[in-house]
Amino acid sequence: MNIVRVFDSNVTKTPDKPFLIFDGHDHTYSQVQDGSRRAAGYLQSLGVQPGDRVALMCYNTPGFVYAMLGAWRLGAVVVPINHKMQTPEVAYVLGHAKVSVCVFDGELAPVVGRLETTAKLISTDSVADGFDFFDDAITRQEGVDGIDIDENDPAEILYTSGTTGSPKGCVHSHRNVVGVAVTAALAVSTTRDERLLMAVPIWHASPLNNWFMSTLYMGGTVVLLREYHPVKFLETVQEQRITLCFGPPVIYTTALNLVPNFAEYNLGSVRAWLYGGGPIGADVARRLVESYGTTEFRQVYGMTETGPVGTVLYPEEQLSKAGSIGRVALAGVDLRLVADDGTDAEPDQIGEIWLRADTVMQGYLDDPTATKAAFADGGWYRTGDLARKDADGYLFIVDRAKDMIITGGENVYSKEVEDVISGHPDVVDVAVVGKPNEEWGETVVAHVVWREPDVISADDIKDYLSDKLARYKIPREVVFATILPRTPTGKIQKHLIRAAS
Ligand code: AMP
Repeated sequence: MNIVRVFDSNVTKTPDKPFLIFDGHDHTYSQVQDGSRRAAGYLQSLGVQPGDRVALMCYNTPGFVYAMLGAWRLGAVVVPINHKMQTPEVAYVLGHAKVSVCVFDGELAPVVGRLETTAKLISTDSVADGFDFFDDAITRQEGVDGIDIDENDPAEILYTSGTTGSPKGCVHSHRNVVGVAVTAALAVSTTRDERLLMAVPIWHASPLNNWFMSTLYMGGTVVLLREYHPVKFLETVQEQRITLCFGPPVIYTTALNLVPNFAEYNLGSVRAWLYGGGPIGADVARRLVESYGTTEFRQVYGMTETGPVGTVLYPEEQLSKAGSIGRVALAGVDLRLVADDGTDAEPDQIGEIWLRADTVMQGYLDDPTATKAAFADGGWYRTGDLARKDADGYLFIVDRAKDMIITGGENVYSKEVEDVISGHPDVVDVAVVGKPNEEWGETVVAHVVWREPDVISADDIKDYLSDKLARYKIPREVVFATILPRTPTGKIQKHLIRAAS
């Protein structure tokens, strides 16, 4: 079983139905099939073989989908790349995954153009001077059927950072991808009438594997919004009669807070608003439930490594259990809350969430040590999320063992930002922490010890980072200090720094 085969069988059932809608244009199931076969032909002409890695660095565009399905037809492995990354970040992923072709959005040419890489760089969707143009090439290309893919072959490598600071590549097989699609479809009862709005970046694990793939699996329609914008978001929901939408809480709060005529939009076609990537407090939950009408809000919790799959907080629990990630795992997912001594945590005792499912990654690419450390005996994935259960069994995340900040649904690993700031010649020591923020969940704050007082300003640090790190990772605030609190063994005491932020 693989998702391309599922897609092709849906083409047979409903060839003329729109599979993608982008910028007001329909791309029917049969057009996407034809385009993805041509994309496969084009990638093959570039030398792509089964097992080769094809990176996709795009906004939410049809080009991403054509190239992804095309690569899979050839048995190649897709490496989605965050389009907000700067050149050194992209270079790391291309090198680590040994990417042979990188399909990128022409608007990203300034970042991609500075890469020193052996990967062939192909521009899609918008023309970039000096690069081959994917959309143009595939219109001239003969389509190919591709190969019969084994379900245990790798389908994707999804990069996520870790405490080490270097991103790690989660390898998911075709079987994993289909498994996530089915789990997500069951969780929200997806049907072929689904009209999913892809308002957040498609390369993120959850939008891609849970929501795009489940809609594809069930034969629904995906409306691609190139980039989130609060007015376009509301307009699209109304005009395209969207039924399902997923994103971090900030996409819903921003539309509510910034669009003055919010109440005039007809959002009644939506049957479920899904959010994940961070909890929302009771006040925000109440405002969202009241403002977005009677439709359902559901929270989903998971991570790239597990598919993502994890837990769900149901609509009727939104207000009574606000801030919880839910009580139960999704169908087919085993869940444990494990105390320090390895036993199941009692109510109110803090433990680590462990998950086990068929959808869990095969491992981190070329990193057996990190892979081994991520799993406990019996195939349990150790999430690094610390939680407690209340008396009713609802889980509340209290901390993350992995020193990660979540800002507007994007994960920022403190270590990665600290490593880059440390490269500044006037910085002697640095600690990066999250600061609670109602709108963004958390914002990134850097505490910096400088070589000599006043040699650098906060703006100098931000300028220094601007071409090295994606914008969302750049600290919103830089606090200068003469010394950072450390334990006797030299470990920075982040809890003290957080308290001072
Ligand atoms: P990612 O791999 O980018 O999907 O990030 C996964 C991490 O985000 C998890 O391990 C959690 O720390 C956090 N996370 C995901 N969903 C939620 C949620 N609903 N509530 C709180 N934290 C979440």
